[in-house]
Amino acid sequence: MSQPKVGFVSLGCPKNLVDSERILTQLKVEGYNIVPSYEDAELVIVNTCGFIDSAVQESLDTIGEALAENGKVIVTGCLGAREDEIRQVHPNVLGITGPHAYENVLDQVHQFVPKPAYDPFLQLVPDTGVKLTPKHYAYLKISEGCNHRCTFCIIPSMRGDLVSRPIGEVLDEAGRLQKAGVKELLVISQDTSAYGVDVKHRTGFWNGQPVKTSMQAMCEALAELGIWVRLHYVYPYPHVDDVIPLMAAGKLLPYLDIPFQHASPRILKLMKRPGQAERTLERIKKWRSICPDLTIRSTFIVGFPGETEEEFQELLNFLEEAQLDRVGCFKYSPVEGAKANELPDPVPEEIKELRYHRFMETQQRISAARLQAKIGRTIQVLIDEVDDEGAIGRSFADAPEIDGAVYLNGLTDVKAGDVITAVVDAADEYDLWATRQI
Ligand code: SF4
Repeated sequence: MSQPKVGFVSLGCPKNLVDSERILTQLKVEGYNIVPSYEDAELVIVNTCGFIDSAVQESLDTIGEALAENGKVIVTGCLGAREDEIRQVHPNVLGITGPHAYENVLDQVHQFVPKPAYDPFLQLVPDTGVKLTPKHYAYLKISEGCNHRCTFCIIPSMRGDLVSRPIGEVLDEAGRLQKAGVKELLVISQDTSAYGVDVKHRTGFWNGQPVKTSMQAMCEALAELGIWVRLHYVYPYPHVDDVIPLMAAGKLLPYLDIPFQHASPRILKLMKRPGQAERTLERIKKWRSICPDLTIRSTFIVGFPGETEEEFQELLNFLEEAQLDRVGCFKYSPVEGAKANELPDPVPEEIKELRYHRFMETQQRISAARLQAKIGRTIQVLIDEVDDEGAIGRSFADAPEIDGAVYLNGLTDVKAGDVITAVVDAADEYDLWATRQI
């Protein structure tokens, strides 16, 4: 019996990738064959992103390409929440659903490409589901949605309020991934520190033991798996202090991804950011006194409406004081539907541009100095790829796809997923070069 063939394009952030993996897993379970080209597919699913205007454009372009190459297209994901916008450009799309609408996506697939008859030989989906990331690392999504209402963001209007996954389900998935050979778990959500708030931190069960639905309890349980565990999208609520000792003890990677977005209290208020920044510098110092290796990644927005030169300077001063390791920066750009669009005093484009460059120069100098300080140190490196010229991996300080890499020139007798010990020989502002220690 031949399997019906479906094409799949996944755009956007790691959170969207997790949605894609769920849809793909279900399709495989039902006996569909996922094919890598438009021509072979009987239908194409495009999982879109709608976070910023350039992502919207990329999503619309991809839908257009899939329509031109294949003709039968269904759309899901964040941009799917804005159906009219898609229909205006692409009226011939067969179906549109919003984010994490797995069941509806599957219903639409069934409608256009009927589900194959049950065949036990087609039910052989790995226990871990279908993963789109390389085998040795995996994203672990712990919740959907967000209870905050940051004025520049439209995610809550697309994804709704926070819904935490049951703790037992999260830990089961983590355990399955670890057993399947995953060496690094990347915990993701819109707001990792809020995990369990929506269910009042109710007690769930894992391996027959009671476990609270909270970030702390989850981290303690994940730490038992003996693999790298990295936390993303953590807001600096007071209870974040409690996971730092786990990092200092080597049980969680000493890595925190905290999107601070700004340092001026007035701008943060205009942004309606959670976890206000007043004591942020003090907290960072305290965290580093407990865990000196702590790597902090963050993102910032420059040119937010009303940002004055003094407030921007406050941000630069914060960077100098905080000595963050990895930093991304965006020039503010209005996103359709965001509250911040109504704020007065937009910053002119040329000033945004200048501030962006001043920001990047300051941070690149800081990041470069922090990486230079690693020369001579012995580090653990998780190998991502190997070819004839050597291996490329990452240290605990580097998350895949967003941070730097560790280059091991000439090292060819290792494979992806190995963890080796190496000594750092050189550094630039993003990457390290190292030699394996025998
Ligand atoms: S915390 Fe703010 S920026 Fe992040 S998803 Fe929620 S509303 Fe958006």
